[in-house]
Amino acid sequence: VDVVLGDRSYRIRIGRDLLRQPARWRDAVRGRHVLVVTDSTVAPLYLARLEDGLDGFDHAVVTIPAGERHKTLAQTEQVFAALAGLGASRDATVIALGGGVVGDLAGFAAACWMRGIDFVQMPTTLLAMVDSSVGGKTGVNLPAGKNLIGAFHQPRSVIIDTDTLDTLPAREYRAGLAEVVKYGAISDAAFFGWLEQQADALVRREPAAVAEAIAVSCKSKADIVARDEREEGERALLNFGHTFGHALETEAGYGTLLHGEAVAIGMTLAASLSAHMGKSSHTDTDRLISLLKRLELPTVVPHDISPARLIQHMRLDKKNLSGKIRAVLWHGVGRAGVTIVEDEQLRSVLE
Ligand code: NAD
Ligand code: ZN
Repeated sequence: VDVVLGDRSYRIRIGRDLLRQPARWRDAVRGRHVLVVTDSTVAPLYLARLEDGLDGFDHAVVTIPAGERHKTLAQTEQVFAALAGLGASRDATVIALGGGVVGDLAGFAAACWMRGIDFVQMPTTLLAMVDSSVGGKTGVNLPAGKNLIGAFHQPRSVIIDTDTLDTLPAREYRAGLAEVVKYGAISDAAFFGWLEQQADALVRREPAAVAEAIAVSCKSKADIVARDEREEGERALLNFGHTFGHALETEAGYGTLLHGEAVAIGMTLAASLSAHMGKSSHTDTDRLISLLKRLELPTVVPHDISPARLIQHMRLDKKNLSGKIRAVLWHGVGRAGVTIVEDEQLRSVLE
């Protein structure tokens, strides 16, 4: 799949066992210096496969502790220190081997080092394969909030070795499927229908179905990013389910609900709100809920979470302007739009 962005265009390569076939990715690395960033769970599983293909390069590895709470400036400094230790020049490459945490952090470090060096995404979670590795959003968290520091920095290439999904825990895998459903819901009714047909195959992780879901998702995201790289318009639609989702993630406490699980519930809420506001039908909402359920994703707000607290969190969303809550509403399968919503409408749907 190609991401067409003028002289920053790049290719997403998807296949089995790519890590062990350096001939299929080495051309993405231009200079002599390579810094691999990975995490403590992924390193023992896949680092050796990658390193075998790095002979001939001067390379070093930074392994950050696994988990969202390590997506920090402190860990980014470790990456800078390693780049300095390597004597990395402007033609150095950072390779991110891991999930979205590693990809966001390594990409941010690459965006900053000498004001921007190459980086290559090698995503190993479904979420990272279908979403975070594509599109060039990079960043880290602050105690004050998620992804508050960041930069747009497109990768030079995205290498998706689908074999790495073999070790991904079921819950993480299903969370990634929520983002796959999102693409069908907002921009591709035919794909949504295909997901309804293939739901069982996807739950069983049948390789052909999984590969197809990844390719179509990447293509959806690539096309949207190509039309609106800096999120001045259409790209905001990728936040379908995310205004509610981020609020749920924050309120439930990080680690309680996975991002994709919160997005599944968030999409259900956004669809219900849309139906409530007359923008989509209840039949569409039912279709969405039943697909999410078949993919074994949650669709209801945990009962200990209060609507008022959720609305408070939604006020802090980055997408808001001038204090108004902007949410992506559903206009039925395959279509969405951004609308300002009033507290009253949110409250009635949440209640
Ligand atoms: P993650 O990187 O924390 O990975 C989830 C867990 O799976 C981690 O414990 C990781 O060590 C482990 N893991 C990774 N690959 C594995 C494998 N193959 N086998 C076994 N275990 C494996 O989380 P994630 O869900 O991949 O990504 C979430 C992050 O992505 C969040 O920080 C979010 O903000 C970010 N994100 C960014 C964008 C973007 O556009 N940049 C989009 C969506 C999400
Ligand atoms: Zn998401």
